[in-house]
Amino acid sequence: MSKFLRVKCACGNEQNIYGHASRSVSCLVCGTALAHPAGSRVEVTEGTKVLRVL
Ligand SMILES: [Zn+2]
Repeated sequence: MSKFLRVKCACGNEQNIYGHASRSVSCLVCGTALAHPAGSRVEVTEGTKVLRVL
């Protein structure tokens, strides 16, 4: 499993998130939750697109 994911928020903001985050990750622009921990990896929320794996 990769370490970072490039994701795009529903607001259009793109940012990198850690693939094994232990906390929820929020969009830096609008504050929407982009991903949350699901076991040993993160699960992106609905509306968030994974653009690529880094
Ligand atoms: Zn956003």
